[in-house]
Amino acid sequence: MSFNPSLSAARIVILSGPSGAGKTTVVRELLRSSPVPLELSVSATTRSPRSGELDGREYHFLSHAEFARRRAAGEFLECKEVFGRGDWYGTLRSAVTSGLEQGKWVLLEIDVEGAMAVRDQFPDCVMIFLHPGSLAELERRLRGRGTDSEDSIRRRLEVASGELARAAEYRYQVVNETPAQAVSEIRAILARISG
Ligand code: 5GP
Repeated sequence: MSFNPSLSAARIVILSGPSGAGKTTVVRELLRSSPVPLELSVSATTRSPRSGELDGREYHFLSHAEFARRRAAGEFLECKEVFGRGDWYGTLRSAVTSGLEQGKWVLLEIDVEGAMAVRDQFPDCVMIFLHPGSLAELERRLRGRGTDSEDSIRRRLEVASGELARAAEYRYQVVNETPAQAVSEIRAILARISG
């Protein structure tokens, strides 16, 4: 599927930040209170759902075979293996174009490499990095959420330190002191851009 050039990439909003930086809470709150009509692009992944996650809401949970088939068919705007353990994540072109075609702004919650891949294709996209404050704070949050094994926490922290090092490549950086404050900063960014 090709991208219709009349659709404005300035309405693609990318939110990245290390796993555990609080993206999920911020995204949920932002979708409720955004100053622009914002829709979440639901990514596809081969990882298993965590408890409370629903297929089609947090992710489209796909088998490896189905993910590979869609990848070969060119259905992803970007996709990659995250955490080096064989789990794939990808942004579906259809998720982005359908929102833009309806006049919405589309929010992509993706990692740094995915963000750079999207930026290469759509330099006008709005890039926001959600910063956890520090690695120590991130570790505290990852342990606190109690959903990840020790091994997974260690790998996430390793990936996180690499991601924090690339925060400066984002046009906007928001430190997540509290979800309410982070959401309010992001709302202000979107209001400014849309105005
Ligand atoms: P989690 O397994 O905690 O839901 O997500 C792990 C990481 O994958 C997060 O950093 C998240 O931003 C990233 N991620 C989620 N969806 C996508 C996607 O479609 N593309 C890329 N490149 N990364 C993604």
